[in-house]
Amino acid sequence: MRKALLVALTLACGGVLAAQPPQFSNTVRGFIKVDAPVVALTHVRVIDGTGAPARADQTIVIRGGNIAEIGDAARVKAPEGATAIDLTGKSVMPGLVMVHEHTYYPTGPGVYGQLGLSFARLYLAGGVTTMRTGGNTNGVMDISLKQQIEAGTQAGPAIDATAPYLNGPQGMLQMHALTGADDARRQVAYWADLGATSFKAYMQITRDELKASIDEAHKRGLKITGHLCSVTYAEAADLGIDNLEHGFMASTDFVPDKTPDTCPGQGAGQRTIAALDENGEPFKALVKKLVDRKVALTSTMTVFETFTPGRPMPPGLDVLLPQLKEQFESNYRRTAQNAQSVYATLLPKGMALERAFARAGGTLLAGTDPTGGGGVIPGYSNQRQLELLVEEGFTPLEAIRIGTLNGATYLARDARVGSIAAGKQADLVVIGGDPSTTIADVRKVETVFKQGVGYDPAKLVASVSGKVGLW
Ligand SMILES: [Zn+2]
Repeated sequence: MRKALLVALTLACGGVLAAQPPQFSNTVRGFIKVDAPVVALTHVRVIDGTGAPARADQTIVIRGGNIAEIGDAARVKAPEGATAIDLTGKSVMPGLVMVHEHTYYPTGPGVYGQLGLSFARLYLAGGVTTMRTGGNTNGVMDISLKQQIEAGTQAGPAIDATAPYLNGPQGMLQMHALTGADDARRQVAYWADLGATSFKAYMQITRDELKASIDEAHKRGLKITGHLCSVTYAEAADLGIDNLEHGFMASTDFVPDKTPDTCPGQGAGQRTIAALDENGEPFKALVKKLVDRKVALTSTMTVFETFTPGRPMPPGLDVLLPQLKEQFESNYRRTAQNAQSVYATLLPKGMALERAFARAGGTLLAGTDPTGGGGVIPGYSNQRQLELLVEEGFTPLEAIRIGTLNGATYLARDARVGSIAAGKQADLVVIGGDPSTTIADVRKVETVFKQGVGYDPAKLVASVSGKVGLW
């Protein structure tokens, strides 16, 4: 009977399979505050994620995990028997879709703690309903976490799980060193078979290894991104990469006499980027190549902000284990005293370059990268990233689109998520304010709906507070 109903529903949705919310574990149930067959959000301001102006006084009807109907409150009424929630004065925007997230965090010198469980809750609490991890240092955690969240045993966003980094020899304890193109192909095949759905090339990969990785991923219909150094952006674009991380901050395209397949050091690249003219021909030629080859760029200003003197203390530090909080605070003090830091010019320059790329027709995505020297706290950082996009020169509506529909489109999930429209999955963030005019209001998340089920961000945060660093 239930199966017949499902088939009927599927057919009614024009063949688009409507994923049903799973049976939740008791742990997950403890975080849920709205779970009803039919929910009506009434008198709410809708920011739909497409960049269109916000619409006042709307009704959204949620049924079976999807948006059944949306429109002016005068026309669309809450159905009989629906759980109606009056959201006068509040806004709804799509759940964030962010593409440079991680399930690990720096805990010691060159050591990364594997914090998938707490991070998944923090991401969801911050309004992230879909995320791609941008490389992992744990092997199977991203894949297992994705599966457990789908099964309803853990709370968190839908995950596009990235395999361990594809990288050449280097000093990192938790990374494999590729031994050539055959090894690269084998790694991609192995992790794809285990369930990884995307890949990330890293700083010491060679062009041959990158090419083999791209070809094997594409053969399987999967995408690959890179935080590069040994390979330039232009070379990677020519090899067919889909996405590049950290805006232009990892580009070594402008390092004079760069040796092919060798990383001249992140600092050498960044000194040339800090001095780059966004109106000059060399930069414009690179942008044109990336745009022509449809290579998306991910902005991760949150992590670079933590390296830059004179910036505000990042949000969310209180969730950390006290020792990790102190560790970051001492890094922060050291950064503040470093007046010579390249980041003083690099951060604003990186912003100007990303803006120029987007204005030239490039696809900009958003992510937060909770690595570096710490201080990038999942969930809080995703909200901060939207604020930084506005500082970069985008309007709040453009910034929200970059953090929602752009990410969903890149991940080929835009038929289901990334914007608010009838027929799409009900992944919605209720905000006690108006981020379409005041972007800082994205911090005022009151409820996060994922597949039509409303989670309580305060409970998600409370469950991990002071313990992030242990698990
Ligand atoms: Zn990263």
